[in-house]
Amino acid sequence: MSAAPHEALAGATADEVLAWADRTFGKSAAIASSFGVEDVVLIDLAQRHAPRLPIFTLDTGRLPPETYDVMEEVRRRYGVAILAYAPERAAVEELERTKGFFSFRRSIDERRECCGLRKLEPLRRALLGKSAWVTGLRREQSVTRTGVEVVETDAAPGGILKLNPLAAWSEADVWRYAREHALPVNALHARGYPSIGCAPCTRAVAPGEDVRAGRWWWESPEHKECGLHGRGGR
Ligand code: SF4
Repeated sequence: MSAAPHEALAGATADEVLAWADRTFGKSAAIASSFGVEDVVLIDLAQRHAPRLPIFTLDTGRLPPETYDVMEEVRRRYGVAILAYAPERAAVEELERTKGFFSFRRSIDERRECCGLRKLEPLRRALLGKSAWVTGLRREQSVTRTGVEVVETDAAPGGILKLNPLAAWSEADVWRYAREHALPVNALHARGYPSIGCAPCTRAVAPGEDVRAGRWWWESPEHKECGLHGRGGR
């Protein structure tokens, strides 16, 4: 399978993808989690099928308290360490001293500057020396994610594999799994937040709105990625 995991795993179930990652990479792969419901589903599946993979999160410094509540619940429920990567202190201090506390609202460039400093640089450290990373991305999530494949080669962190075991899952699939397994879920979901990121860059959505309409709501849909997933800008 090593010659072409992209093809071999294209139609595999999430369980099969995770088991393959555990067999193939063990600790040299890692699960990225921002603790939305997809990510908790992914962690639950990984505890069953890929228990050697470490779990990391990007602690941007601007996350809502509800996200920390879920992180702690997950940490306790599974007895796992959540490897939190924070931004470089000096860079955050410089940004806030020179541009204030809401520079990301002024332009796409300034928003990307903040995401770069608080997410991309910590991600780079999280993936240093890794052969693969695993995410909870789904194709249905937004116009920027319709092309998500189960296995991708991620150019940004140096050509490592990126596995998206839930790529084909629907929102209903995710919630069915979460309910059946009584998983801890971020309290913001029940308040109209289908997609949850940093507190100042996430709002609730109205019924019928796109699931990512509440992320950087002042920008147009095609820009709504922060660069973690190489499609323009999560
Ligand atoms: S989501 Fe907002 S606060 Fe968080 S890193 Fe990006 S711009 Fe900064």
